[in-house]
Amino acid sequence: MAYHPYKDHASWKMLIGGEFVDGSGATALEVINPATGQVLGEAPAAGEDDVDRAVVAARQAYHGWRWVRPEERGAMLFEIARRIHEHHDELVDLETWENGKPRVQSARDVINAERTFRFYAGAADKFYGQSVYDGLSEMRKIVYEPYGVVAVIIPWNWPPMHTADFAALALATGNTVVLKPAPETPLSSLRIAELAADVLPPGVLNVVTGGVETGVQLVAHRGIDFIAFTGSDLTGEKILAAAATRILPTMMELGGKNASIIFPDADLGRAVQGMVRSAFFNSGQACSGSERVLVHESIYTTFMERFTSAVAGLSVGEGFDERSIVGPMVSKRQQEKVQGALDRAVAAGACIPTRAEVPSDARLAGGFWVPPTIVTEAAPDAEIMTAEVFGPVAGVLPFKDEDEAVAIANAVDYGLTSGVWTRDLGVAHRMATRIEAGIVSVNRVNSGELGLPFGGYKRSGVGRKKDFLEAMRSFSRVKAIQMDFSQGG
Ligand code: NAD
Repeated sequence: MAYHPYKDHASWKMLIGGEFVDGSGATALEVINPATGQVLGEAPAAGEDDVDRAVVAARQAYHGWRWVRPEERGAMLFEIARRIHEHHDELVDLETWENGKPRVQSARDVINAERTFRFYAGAADKFYGQSVYDGLSEMRKIVYEPYGVVAVIIPWNWPPMHTADFAALALATGNTVVLKPAPETPLSSLRIAELAADVLPPGVLNVVTGGVETGVQLVAHRGIDFIAFTGSDLTGEKILAAAATRILPTMMELGGKNASIIFPDADLGRAVQGMVRSAFFNSGQACSGSERVLVHESIYTTFMERFTSAVAGLSVGEGFDERSIVGPMVSKRQQEKVQGALDRAVAAGACIPTRAEVPSDARLAGGFWVPPTIVTEAAPDAEIMTAEVFGPVAGVLPFKDEDEAVAIANAVDYGLTSGVWTRDLGVAHRMATRIEAGIVSVNRVNSGELGLPFGGYKRSGVGRKKDFLEAMRSFSRVKAIQMDFSQGG
């Protein structure tokens, strides 16, 4: 039996200053099962005073946390990882209830969250500064210090992993955190906070739940020192504008319109499977996934035969059904957004050569389904080929040579990930060098991997997460210290 967020859990509360509290917001959040459209239950909505108390608690806790020895901070993060492991099944079920994704994909997400806490637990005491010059009466060194209170705002597509990505990184570097999950998926973050609450000193990690308004209040709070945001580029713009008024440093992990480029010498079977996975994993709600598939004109027909047949056979269904490979969209809003983009593409002349079936079960009639869909015949500069859809939609385009592939791949405002499929090392090297993206994958599905810096070029964002050096430095401010001992002392 799946763990149920309301039958198996007493009540959902926010974590502020080490206490579990209700939200003082006017209307509680509704947690909806995306596979049925039915309300599962409520989660707290923070009021402005809750946001204020969370930031004040984080500020107070910072004065102690900043001086906790890195190995002790690491030990606490290891314990949080252990508890996530211990509660794995329950966290997997929670994510499947609130996000709708197939259970096996939630499991991967929960494992990633656990690994991320473990990674930054180990990183905490291995991050050091530099000594520039040590004379007999003079010393110069560079140290990395925490910023203070980090506001973390995350989306709904990988809630446990997004919680871990920024919270573990911020805590490892000596910052304290006020985290706001997406209103669609508050429970995963609240449960991780519950598991962490008695491991960490009070106020070191705070979680406030709410929608846009709560995010706006958090970003506007004078008590925060750094903003770590994952979400759309349009929201990123607004947050950057708010941060600019206080010259606040930020990390922005934003959208993508990622291209995978398939050359004639690629292993076609692997490339087709790779594209199915890249475009439709997580119902296409993946910032790293390939929404654009560029196929060399000489293999276009063969590729399309195999790709359309694989996509038509994708099993779409609710996350608790083991046969499901693709789940619903997370929300009605997302379903309408994706469907709207498809409708406009067709009206502008694009074709849909194939799409998978959505469930016909009457019980799932209210679910937020969008069939996995292939789009062809759209121009490279059409809306469907340049604007992020964030749904199960792959736009396929032929190309004639490397130059054209590079030109199409780079002709969008985004630059998060990209894929190249070829056996020719020269082609792989030239493409990886010429593509404007933060991550280029060759002969494998584009994805973020723990240990490698993850982040975008252009409108896909600023800053890097998931790795050791870039990420730890991103969450730290640099101080140069120079000392003169020539007067004695
Ligand atoms: P969104 O920008 O609408 O919302 C993200 C979060 O920001 C939510 O918690 C939301 O409540 C909050 N928010 C919204 N408006 C705000 C405001 N004005 N001030 C403060 N907070 C605000 O994004 P979404 O639709 O929930 O998520 C999908 C987007 O996230 C896609 O664009 C996707 O590419 C991106 N994403 C990026 C990465 C990455 O690492 N680069 C990873 C996952 C998702």
